Amino acid sequence: MRKLTLGTTGITVPQNAFGALPIQRISKEEAAKLLRKAYDGGMRFFDTARAYSDSEEKLGYAFEGMRDKIYIASKTMGTTPEKFWEDLKTTLTNLKTDYLDIYQFHCVNQCYRPNDGTGMYECMLEAKKQGKIRHIGITAHKIEVAKEIVESNLYETLQFPFSYLCSQKDIDLVKRCKEQSIGFIAMKGLAGGLITRSDAAMSYLYQYDNVLPIWGIQKEQELDEWLSFMDKEPEMTKEISDFIEKDRKELMGDFCRGCGYCMPTCPAEIEIATCARMSLLLRRSPSAGHLTKESQAKMAKIDECIDCGVCKTKCPYELDTPNLLRKNYEDYKKVLAGEVTV
Ligand code: SF4
Ligand code: SF4
Repeated sequence: MRKLTLGTTGITVPQNAFGALPIQRISKEEAAKLLRKAYDGGMRFFDTARAYSDSEEKLGYAFEGMRDKIYIASKTMGTTPEKFWEDLKTTLTNLKTDYLDIYQFHCVNQCYRPNDGTGMYECMLEAKKQGKIRHIGITAHKIEVAKEIVESNLYETLQFPFSYLCSQKDIDLVKRCKEQSIGFIAMKGLAGGLITRSDAAMSYLYQYDNVLPIWGIQKEQELDEWLSFMDKEPEMTKEISDFIEKDRKELMGDFCRGCGYCMPTCPAEIEIATCARMSLLLRRSPSAGHLTKESQAKMAKIDECIDCGVCKTKCPYELDTPNLLRKNYEDYKKVLAGEVTV
């Protein structure tokens, strides 16, 4: 597998990296085993965030004494300088390190700039001056915000969702990052679990030599799939290209990516990230037990939606979430009743 350099950062790693969000769902020992296996298999770039509960701590535990052998990127969702510094301190402690390779503003709705009155960009500059971070990055989910970030030329890396379900606008963004020498870190290469073939996902992204995919990994079997590409160059065969074409036709458009950014504030406590894409999950991962009593109870909560609209305002993809939920529930009930086969 070839290596890439992220923009002007000098960070050169195999084009196959570890997204450490899912390790918050497994034990410390399981996470450490997975992370060390990823390292042994050739992965060198690990992306985490303050918002991923104990993911940073698990990384710190797994790689204690190996700091100079890997690159670590983390993120803050802080919107004030106080929170920025508090998060950075916690992150460094959790990771048992005194520096981050990349520190990113997490899922922003605006491009922080010097002198914009927030003081946020100045925090990044100061942290860099103090040697606590080596490079300034940012993550976004909205294309317009991402474009503004790229054109500002203030950030060394941009992290953005990118998979074969993306639009031409997203592809243009990737190309623009290359022209501007901004490192592009691709999240959601499997479109939140809707893409089910790792070879198709990887072969698509590998066509872009400036894109570093960070695969969200929770199980050894998933890791093995990604590691298998380290010795086997991903190739866009006719069979894979036909499969992607078919999948794109089925999945393009307004579907829930499962990012969960709309969730914590739902007054009805609906598990939106799962429920709003249940129709797709039923058809694409039928073995995952979506019809259990527990799942039925989760779906039934959709009836408690009070149409407050909060989720809509939080969705980076501007989805009509309450309606999407209702559509999914209608379909779910038909599947349960055996009126529709999946
Ligand atoms: S509109 Fe419904 S689903 Fe959305 S936040 Fe409000 S109660 Fe929850
Ligand atoms: S509705 Fe939007 S914000 Fe909520 S999980 Fe789906 S894609 Fe994410």
